[in-house]
Amino acid sequence: MFIQLEEQNNMKRFFAIIISALLLAAVATMPVSAKSPKLKALIVSGQNNHNWPVSHQALKLILDNSGMFESDIVLTAKAGGDMSKFKPDFEKYDVVVLDYNGDRWPAETDAAFLRYVQNGGGVVVYHAADNAFAGWEEFNKIIALGGWEGRTEKSGPYYYLKDGKPVLDHSAGPGGSHGQQREYPMHCRQAKHPITKGLPDNWIHGRDEMYDRMRGPANIKDLLYSGYAEKATGGSGREEPLVFTVDYGKARIFHIMLGHAGPTLEDNPAMQCAGFQTLLLRGAEWAATGKVKQAVPKDFPTDKKTSFRLDYTQPKK
Ligand code: ZN
Repeated sequence: MFIQLEEQNNMKRFFAIIISALLLAAVATMPVSAKSPKLKALIVSGQNNHNWPVSHQALKLILDNSGMFESDIVLTAKAGGDMSKFKPDFEKYDVVVLDYNGDRWPAETDAAFLRYVQNGGGVVVYHAADNAFAGWEEFNKIIALGGWEGRTEKSGPYYYLKDGKPVLDHSAGPGGSHGQQREYPMHCRQAKHPITKGLPDNWIHGRDEMYDRMRGPANIKDLLYSGYAEKATGGSGREEPLVFTVDYGKARIFHIMLGHAGPTLEDNPAMQCAGFQTLLLRGAEWAATGKVKQAVPKDFPTDKKTSFRLDYTQPKK
């Protein structure tokens, strides 16, 4: 008995020495001035009723040019094509940016995505990504509000603001519409959230669609920005939710309805808008880490003036 105990103690000491040696070796090989690692983003694209060849490249330029993110792109098969090989490794990423509206993914990929999100993953839902998968119940909870693709009162209520307060409107009708593209004012609804903190309460967004009459489970956590969908240009006549976070377990989900892609990277005002780019970057950082460390950029639009980054780069400090 005594001998056995002594042997055990010797073994413990032996392993303690080995582990210490390994730790020392690891520290010794670390570069002295290691930069903080970049956040890893995965942009999912490849099918959309929008100009995805432009939008996914613009998203990558915005993310990578910030110096904060390193992004990979994964494209699905073309519409109607063989989707069986679409199996991205979501777990490798700090944030998944959805720029996809098309054929259903393989069941295995649906399950992997849900696992990633439900384990506390970060997601950015960008523009028409909230048109996707109308019949996938769990996906609709991840986006909170969606439009088109057959959405009706069965998808959930309309969500809009009346006298500054949310209204859940269960009346019958299709989900998703928008008026003519135009420049429009953005109205902040939650100025203390890390994503909006320090940004102006009102600012003018570059020419874009304004989604309205969206509907769904409406599990919005923090409504960050709304806009008025004026009837004169074909809108709903309501104050509509445009940028928000979603209440979905441990996940951090940032939904931005802005950013209708133009014909080319050079002619793409909704995505070249400094306001759009700032919100995308702040929302993506928050989705990845739960915090926002980036400063408010000096070229942010004001309540009188739009502002554009034609080359998708941030202003020099
Ligand atoms: Zn659009």
